[in-house]
Amino acid sequence: MSLSVSAPARRGRTSVRRSDIPAAGPVRRLSGAGSVLSAILDHGPVARSTVARLTGLSPASVTGHTGRLMARGLVRESEESTGPKGLGRPHIPLEIDTGRHVVAGAHIAVAHSTVSLMDLRGRILAEDRQPHRGTDAQRILDDLATRLPRLVTAHAAGRAVLALGVATGHRVDPEAGVVIEHPQLGWRDVPVRDVLAAATGLQVQVDSHARALARAEQMLGEATTRASTVLLFVGAVVDAAFATAGAMHLGPRSGAGSVAHLPLGSAGSGGAEPCSCGRRGCLQSEVSERAMVRQAAEQGLLVGSFTELLERALVGEARAVALFRRRARLVGQAAALLLDMFDPEVLVVVEPGAGRLPQCLADLRTEVAERSWVCDDPERAVVPSSFTGSVLATAGGAVALGALYADPLGPWPALPAVS
Ligand SMILES: [Zn+2]
Repeated sequence: MSLSVSAPARRGRTSVRRSDIPAAGPVRRLSGAGSVLSAILDHGPVARSTVARLTGLSPASVTGHTGRLMARGLVRESEESTGPKGLGRPHIPLEIDTGRHVVAGAHIAVAHSTVSLMDLRGRILAEDRQPHRGTDAQRILDDLATRLPRLVTAHAAGRAVLALGVATGHRVDPEAGVVIEHPQLGWRDVPVRDVLAAATGLQVQVDSHARALARAEQMLGEATTRASTVLLFVGAVVDAAFATAGAMHLGPRSGAGSVAHLPLGSAGSGGAEPCSCGRRGCLQSEVSERAMVRQAAEQGLLVGSFTELLERALVGEARAVALFRRRARLVGQAAALLLDMFDPEVLVVVEPGAGRLPQCLADLRTEVAERSWVCDDPERAVVPSSFTGSVLATAGGAVALGALYADPLGPWPALPAVS
């Protein structure tokens, strides 16, 4: 991490100048219509008068936004109401219209990618995960663009697709729609937004998976995450995100949350294998999926993949459980540091051990209790992901949904419904 915060970004590429690019969904504050739509998501079915109170907008303004949102097919009058229907009837409660549109998501992991469909309330409708055949960017993006229409045909049930959100690890510039750097894929300055927009005809938004999942927690997860959230993602890649009141901190280099190379010092194993950065004992080189599989092999536990190691732990295989518990302690150290740096309302850990093995979550919280100077209630402040088991399907869709909710009356050319 650099200590300099005022120096201009020094980047290896010159193709995209930030000043040329308007602020896009992921970093934009909610528009008036966005505030109305978000209040309806949180509280619907809800009366217009309540929306006015929740948003601080005037009743007339809420009625105007609501009419436009209904005309766009994003909001409908609740069926709980009685009597004839029509635009602008003030006493009929409003809810998100899930019957006319969906959003699509794509998550690009190190070894596989996931395409998914999500309704406008964030419910996963379908997902399709496939292993990569190589790491060539064009090939992976072509493959995503090919798989998406098949998923839409099979599962969108006649609803039109409004947007495609893409999430991946490491450094992503959501304003430019570019993956700046993904070392494990060998990607540098890949213009994911432009490639996929051309291939699919959809409005495409791109963001880091950590920010995508932090946004998903704030929009769709526990209410306690709404004020401020730090999210720590531990998978094949390790990184973090910080969100406060719906706004995501990005940083001038799109680099906020780059915790992969946090040194663990004496707590780590010293690193039987050096980290990709050349040093030993980095957080990522100690707790990543690859590290877990290697550590299992060192103990004579031969597994073909991280997923297999997790399955062994879930059925109680002692060596597998011990590896996940060690991982939980190390992740707990990073969590304690992040809690002290940001003092968030909630720190969300996206890690399957903490999500599915109660002992791992307890170990992680114990580590936080021992190490954090500011967090005295880890039982409340440290929580597993709300999306355990569907993290990858959620991430991409949340990028699209976040952009749509930020500016629902913006240009969202729907890909026509397929029946
Ligand atoms: Zn490193």
